[in-house]
Amino acid sequence: MTIETTAAREPETRVIVSRLLAAGPDADFARHLARFGAFDPAAAAPRLLAELEASGLTGRGGAGFAAWRKCAATADARDSSPRARRVVIGNGAEGEPFSRKDETLLRNAPHLVIDGLLAAAAAVGASELYLYAGEPGLSAIHGAVAERADGAGIRVTAAADTFLSGQASAVVNAIATGRPLPRDPVGRLSESGLRGRPTLLHNVETLAHIGLIARYGADWFRAAGTAADPGTRLVTVAGDVPRAQVLEVHGGARIDAVLEAAGADPSRISAVLVGGYHGAWLTADQLGTALSPEALTPYGAHPGAGILLALDRTRCAVQTTAEIIDYLAGQSARQCGPCLFGLPALAASWRDLAAGAVPGAAPGEAPHRAWTLADAVDGRGACAHPDGTARLSRSALRVFAADIEQHRNGRCLRAAH
Ligand code: SF4
Repeated sequence: MTIETTAAREPETRVIVSRLLAAGPDADFARHLARFGAFDPAAAAPRLLAELEASGLTGRGGAGFAAWRKCAATADARDSSPRARRVVIGNGAEGEPFSRKDETLLRNAPHLVIDGLLAAAAAVGASELYLYAGEPGLSAIHGAVAERADGAGIRVTAAADTFLSGQASAVVNAIATGRPLPRDPVGRLSESGLRGRPTLLHNVETLAHIGLIARYGADWFRAAGTAADPGTRLVTVAGDVPRAQVLEVHGGARIDAVLEAAGADPSRISAVLVGGYHGAWLTADQLGTALSPEALTPYGAHPGAGILLALDRTRCAVQTTAEIIDYLAGQSARQCGPCLFGLPALAASWRDLAAGAVPGAAPGEAPHRAWTLADAVDGRGACAHPDGTARLSRSALRVFAADIEQHRNGRCLRAAH
């Protein structure tokens, strides 16, 4: 899949802005400094947490926690032992198959990510710094780190190309042991993360925003977006669009406007999966919704890692969902019961739903089984992989109920278009 960034082109609509990618494509250190100016992390550190709190910046990796809270928790961690040497990790692993935003950011603006990493480390008193990313962004990180004197202490670690490699505890495990497997959440990373040390883990886009807020302050950040969803976010638009693209958009931008900015015709789209494979479906008549946590909550959705997967009216939503759940079942770390037994059963129930008529099955029996299996796995794993898969399943059962009924009758609604 070819991904284009807005950095290389003139803005197409008002929803597109250029903050993170403002230094242009493949910006080296000289162009980064020319665009954003010199930066002293130590000077920014004393005010940084207060500025982050005032900015309203939330994490851009998926969960959407307040960025300042994670920093404060690490800064406040007990430091009564040598193990309290603090760690900051920039997470650029994109396990989501359609996500390209972190790769795009690392290729085009690696120095902004490094600025944010250094600023966060100075603010929480960390002395161990890591950047963790998949193969596509690695060479840009290595090049950027080598370009600057203050990058000497940053360790770069390669992330595996698996769905779970970017999960927080898997990141810590991967750096410590080379195995990107989630672990039981015995404690918060801020208390006991990498090798037991207080650890701050932020997505690389979150760090890039921190790099800008550390320079320009909270008011500047809030000058874009809405009061409820300030700033900008990177969005990967993929699926049935003319070209998959990464766009930087205002907080609170409408989903249909983002799709149009990516060259899609919203009237041709029947549904959009928002937030990635652990996300939720929105129907065509819901595409006027803002891509913000607040606006998406009524639909059980969240911006997540900033992914919009568009489905054309001719593509079967039931079959698409079945394929995604099958993929997710195959991506579990097979450490816990819900993933060992529950997700394969859920995937099988979706294969049945997509195939349609099940001999001897009563109306509603197959969907009921999918509902029951989603409930059975939810909240029972060591990590949130079963929960996210259950969320997607429930969302599809709700949104595509009519399609599922047609499949039971041996027809597909989409075939008529
Ligand atoms: S819930 Fe699944 S993915 Fe998460 S740790 Fe357990 S087996 Fe692995």
